Amino acid sequence: MEIGDLTIKDIASRVKRNEISANEVAKFYIEQIHMKDPLINAFLYVDEDGVIKRAKELDNLKNKKGLLFGVPIAIKDNMNVKGLQATAGSKILRGYIAPYDATVVQKIKDEGGIIIGKTNLDEFAMGSSTENSAFFPTRNPLNVEYVPGGSSGGSASAVSAGLSKAGLGSDTGGSVRQPAAFCGVVGMKPTYGRVSRYGLIAFGSSLDVIGPLTKTVEDSAVMLNVIAGFDAKDETTAKVEKEDFTDSLGKEIRGLKVGVIKEIADFNVQSEIMQSLKVSYSKLEQLGAEIIEVSLPHLKYALPTYYIVAPSEASANLARFDGVRYGLEGEGENIKEFYEDSRTKGFGSEVKRRILIGTFALSAGYYDAYYVKAAKVRRAIEGDFESAFSKVSSIILPTTPTTPFKFGEKKSPLDMYMSDIFTIPVSLAGLPAISVPIGKDNKGFRVGIQLIAKWFDEATLLRVAYALENY
Ligand code: GLN
Repeated sequence: MEIGDLTIKDIASRVKRNEISANEVAKFYIEQIHMKDPLINAFLYVDEDGVIKRAKELDNLKNKKGLLFGVPIAIKDNMNVKGLQATAGSKILRGYIAPYDATVVQKIKDEGGIIIGKTNLDEFAMGSSTENSAFFPTRNPLNVEYVPGGSSGGSASAVSAGLSKAGLGSDTGGSVRQPAAFCGVVGMKPTYGRVSRYGLIAFGSSLDVIGPLTKTVEDSAVMLNVIAGFDAKDETTAKVEKEDFTDSLGKEIRGLKVGVIKEIADFNVQSEIMQSLKVSYSKLEQLGAEIIEVSLPHLKYALPTYYIVAPSEASANLARFDGVRYGLEGEGENIKEFYEDSRTKGFGSEVKRRILIGTFALSAGYYDAYYVKAAKVRRAIEGDFESAFSKVSSIILPTTPTTPFKFGEKKSPLDMYMSDIFTIPVSLAGLPAISVPIGKDNKGFRVGIQLIAKWFDEATLLRVAYALENY
């Protein structure tokens, strides 16, 4: 079997048993990157020397242990890896070298993982196609004329093309799940608070969650085992019992209640996606699950709510990039001109749009009309999910309303925002969700089907996802 076909567990156990060396694995992936990345552009930076050095160190260890021993992992470039650049896809952070490791990166290193490189993204994770990257767009490895999705398009395409065994992305409104769907891989957004955000460049702090992109549900569970857990450096992480998320894989789903959403009929969904959704319903039924209709009456308000909450938080988070504390240095006669020039030159147009929207929504006189109202609607959406989850233990929805689109196809920001109508409600509620490839469209792209579970019930989420994946 080729190295590229092995699972995370296979690679780690073979390297630990000295059946293959970490060096061989690392060289294999670097060669894949040399061959394929010039066309795909998944990576902003590949640390070749660091990768080989690290692999050799692992090979020389007497006591070889760790869930990711010798496994290459690609990291979205909005997370800190000590000594490597962290640009968040923005000119304003060009040249910035992270002085410390994000908690997730530290955990990957502690388990013997190899950070293979930093992947491309929409600037500050704002976007759904990687077209907003300040550097270059990433291409979809399944067909390079199409976008890979975003904002974690780099990590998703790297995993899909076999340039890394797994990747990390960040998901604020869909940025792990949507690119996973577009690139035909598995993408999970854990429950808000399950994974530390320490060392992640913040976008919307009440929404941001780091999650894995992998080829399989099992790999996703292993990655969650590595990155989950309370972190004193992130006050929003929850103190929950440590569990092994691979335990529930392969367990029967007979008798489990899966919710299908009544309101799906109100949305414009590509017919092949509806087809895959129906196929998924029947697969689950054949496996003994019970399909129950549930209602999320506020679903249609999720997009406008998100586009108040997320930009508001972003406008506050991005205030620190002023050319002094961080970021590209502008010019000016006085401090105001200096800030203005730094931010004008450093930020791209989508980021500026969000900062303007957020600043407006939070300003005196408009705060109640916009931000407070959005916070109330967010609560109503959460309430919809609470009542649905009193009847079912998971919910099934498409990940996206369409399969991948071409570069430049989405002309208006709103068209682009619509890509996330089914992922955003889940983010507003802070629930765990996963996108699994099921079926195909007529161009050969996979369709992403999204499963959602109760807060902190990733075990059930992965159990149902595994059953669907392996049917
Ligand atoms: N595409 C959505 C946005 O542009 C979600 C992004 C994300 O999850 N980071 O905001």
